[in-house]
Amino acid sequence: MDPVGVAAAPEAGPGPAWQSKCPWGTPKTASISCSLADVMSEQLAKELQLEEENAAFPEVVAVAEGPFITGENVDTSSDLMLAQMLQMEFDREYDAQLRREEKKFNGDSKVSISFENYRKVHPFDSDSSEDEVDWQDTRHDPYRADKPTITPKKGFIGKGKDITTKHDEVVCGRKNTARMENFAPEFQVGDGIGMDLKLSNQVFNALKQHAYSEERRSARLHEKKEHSTAEKAVDPKTRLLLYKMVSGGMLETITGCISTGKESVVFHAYGGKMSVVNFIVCLTLSMRSATEDDKVIPPECAIKVFKTTLNEFKNRDKYIKDDYRFKDRFSKLNPRKIIRMWAEKEMHNLTRMQNAGIPCPQVVILKKHVLVMSFIGQDQVPAPKLKDVKLNSEDMKKAYYQVLNMMQRLYKECNLVHADLSEYNMLWHDGKVWLIDVSQSVEPTHPHGLEFLFRDCRNVSQFFQKGGVAEAPNERELFNAVSGLNITAENEIDFQAEIEALEKMNEDHVQNHGKKVSTFSTDGDPPIYNE
Ligand code: ADP
Ligand code: MG
Repeated sequence: MDPVGVAAAPEAGPGPAWQSKCPWGTPKTASISCSLADVMSEQLAKELQLEEENAAFPEVVAVAEGPFITGENVDTSSDLMLAQMLQMEFDREYDAQLRREEKKFNGDSKVSISFENYRKVHPFDSDSSEDEVDWQDTRHDPYRADKPTITPKKGFIGKGKDITTKHDEVVCGRKNTARMENFAPEFQVGDGIGMDLKLSNQVFNALKQHAYSEERRSARLHEKKEHSTAEKAVDPKTRLLLYKMVSGGMLETITGCISTGKESVVFHAYGGKMSVVNFIVCLTLSMRSATEDDKVIPPECAIKVFKTTLNEFKNRDKYIKDDYRFKDRFSKLNPRKIIRMWAEKEMHNLTRMQNAGIPCPQVVILKKHVLVMSFIGQDQVPAPKLKDVKLNSEDMKKAYYQVLNMMQRLYKECNLVHADLSEYNMLWHDGKVWLIDVSQSVEPTHPHGLEFLFRDCRNVSQFFQKGGVAEAPNERELFNAVSGLNITAENEIDFQAEIEALEKMNEDHVQNHGKKVSTFSTDGDPPIYNE
């Protein structure tokens, strides 16, 4: 705060006589007066802080507000992000160096010293943590005593009757008390000044475990705030990620949000000039691209940001947990990484579809929980969903036969079942239907694959029958036409029972033969409808 402003006289009008005599003259602009109470006000400081934070990370992102992130953004929020970005890179480099030093220091020694406490990036940080490792699993006890009592090599002190070993109850108890100091600072252990506290191993271990779980809980609470991709906004880390894509030249501008669903937020962006591979090289980031070739970025892109709040994904475990492609990794990962797997799953499924020539978005790049793909639509306007578009009867019929063909090829050529197929996930663009939203798609031999297919068939059949397509069969006929299975049950309940029996048989076969997958026996491949 300007000290002149604080000291300025409250009344307006000509300045005091000394001012006119002052050789440097009167200042042209009068300083704004401000009371000392204002300056000292904690309330004011908080308000200013809040204002600054809001300016840096606005809550709502709307297309109408203009570009969301551009290469030319030089406002303070970008500066802040840039600073955070640099800091993050610096911290990571520092930690990598520390890891190298630690390795060098410890060499092949059986006893090693951990440098963990000197790391810059918090171990619970989603970026850096390989996983939240339980202390019981680590070789390094993070709650080591500061100054361990030195026990001589021989393992005991004293002589004869006065011999004291390192296992002595009193020595151990005191040592345990000292080790409590290493618990997290927020963990209240009381002060034992003046007391000769001796904690038994049992009590100490219970406390240690509790302290650790408390630490993890508080880290989680902190994370929830930091990492949640709220309704329409993206968390700061995702924003940084998007910013890197723009500043790295892969994207030109991120114009705004197209959709906010339960599990994801989709943005529109204009593609940049730089190819994906060059972009990766330039940023030297560990990005995974769908293919290794030097791909050209589409002129318009859709960015699907999978929400990092976990609630919705919990209900969808079954799509990934039983998918043998992801099963092994699923059990080992923490929930945040599972969300990345959803994005990865969408990428793999889209790539399969792309290879089979099924109209769908083309994958551009995957980075953590952010998937960039080609945009279906034009000039920032996404193609309408089938549920929103009014098609004439001819187009409707054409659309039906195309969907039938796509479902068959998805099943046969891509070995996939969409598992969320409906008029909500089909877009009408360029006179044809495009399939989107395949993060939950599974292989037909997934333990619930045929049930998912039946549900898809019901949605498709109902939509086209309601839309007046007389040729559209009922869900059971459609199911047989897509899968090539010949289930003859007359009503839906029996049909579903047969599907479940088939799935069960398949599961048993997998179990008994120790295989990961098996195939359903059919009377031959279904005849694929040619458009
Ligand atoms: P969710 O899991 O939230 O349903 P979707 O993949 O279905 O996610 O995307 C939500 C919406 O975003 C879609 O209904 C569609 O309007 C739009 N969208 C998604 N991907 C694209 C794309 N590649 N091109 C154009 N619009 C898209
Ligand atoms: Mg969808």
